[in-house]
Amino acid sequence: MTKLSAFTIYKLLPKTNCKKCGEATCMAFATKLLNQERKVDECPLLEEPKYKKGGEQLKEIFSKIGKVHPSGVTLDPDLCTGCGNCVTACPVNVRLCAECAEGGPLSDKEILYKVVDGKLKIINLDECRRVKPPKTSCDVCEVYCLSKAIKIVGV
Ligand code: SF4
Ligand code: SF4
Ligand code: SF4
Repeated sequence: MTKLSAFTIYKLLPKTNCKKCGEATCMAFATKLLNQERKVDECPLLEEPKYKKGGEQLKEIFSKIGKVHPSGVTLDPDLCTGCGNCVTACPVNVRLCAECAEGGPLSDKEILYKVVDGKLKIINLDECRRVKPPKTSCDVCEVYCLSKAIKIVGV
């Protein structure tokens, strides 16, 4: 998946600024889609044949992302190779799970990430620095995920 931003979403919308969705512009609708405040099928023009392809692409993107945690951290399981980089790079994960720092066996403590059966499993993002005070704009897991399976969206 390419980096998901309001502009990426906007490019798949009709770009007519018709206001039928109740937003002033397609870009405003795109921003609300990104923040999951609106749904793709709330743009009626996406049912029209010439815009249908963009609508289908948007639905696919959002079905893969699922419900985005307030941290904005998303995982595309299809891209995850289970390398474990994020598990050992996330500073909170390492603090909560000493074994993670050495890439060793992972305990079942309340950690953020662990690899299960060759894929990353998100356990508890409520501990993520992006949501837990004092909040930071940490993006370490995204940076260390070389396969681009982790994306931080919406913020
Ligand atoms: S209904 Fe669709 S095309 Fe019209 S402004 Fe909203 S997003 Fe843009
Ligand atoms: S954004 Fe930072 S704190 Fe949050 S899961 Fe990723 S590496 Fe960990
Ligand atoms: S760094 Fe990326 S590819 Fe590796 S386990 Fe984490 S999500 Fe999967």
